[in-house]
Amino acid sequence: MTAWLGVDLGGTWLRWGGETPGRLRLENPEPEAVIEALAARAEGRGVAISFAGWLSPDGRRVMQGPNLGWSDVPLVEMAAARGLRCHLENDLDARAWGEFLALGAPADESLVVLNAGSGFALGLVVEGRLVRGRRRRAGEIGHLVLGPPEKPCGCGDLGCVEAALGGAMAAPGSFDEALYRQRWLALAAPVAAPVITALDPHHVLGVGGVLENRPELFRDLERSIARLLPRRWFGDFRLQPSEGESLALLGVVDLARRAEGLQSDN
Ligand SMILES: [Zn+2]
Repeated sequence: MTAWLGVDLGGTWLRWGGETPGRLRLENPEPEAVIEALAARAEGRGVAISFAGWLSPDGRRVMQGPNLGWSDVPLVEMAAARGLRCHLENDLDARAWGEFLALGAPADESLVVLNAGSGFALGLVVEGRLVRGRRRRAGEIGHLVLGPPEKPCGCGDLGCVEAALGGAMAAPGSFDEALYRQRWLALAAPVAAPVITALDPHHVLGVGGVLENRPELFRDLERSIARLLPRRWFGDFRLQPSEGESLALLGVVDLARRAEGLQSDN
């Protein structure tokens, strides 16, 4: 069995966990340079990477890493050629799995992690299984085309929810916050609520900079979602706070171990 180092690869910073956690500014975002930086940290271990971006269905390629400017990078193969074992997960998937482990909930419970940061998406654990989806895009509700049709989104499309919700909320003061908040809630709650109704989860967590920096918005979102849910069954709906961003590392290391276990069972 490989020993794994959990790493968060988002953009400017490379962060790692383990016994001596730390971070390193990525001066050169080219894949080869990042692999060198990872190999230097790994010290013979495998690296389990929580990655901010879209992965291929088999999880071996980065299809789009907007913060690093990566497009279709076969990261797992490139790292293997350098002698580095590497396991990739989308950062919200890693986070959802880490949150699930940290809750210590019964193994067959369900969890939805609602992330409102620069993006807007859901991480899903359904009856004890992480749900990544056929294209590794399960939970990407931020790209539903329900926003203003002229607004360009980071994904390349027009009119995504995320384009309407994201970004602007991270910079308070430059607009009428109360009005924006109203619009934000009017869009965010109706796209999240149907998923919650569909899955009827045991836990729903709110994470991400937009919610974590605005406790009032957190409660407003809870109320707005609760108003949309079937009252008779969802009367006790609660949006729970997170146990912390670093849980993505716990999650990704556990997922790397599990994937390795599955390989060696075959
Ligand atoms: Zn989009």
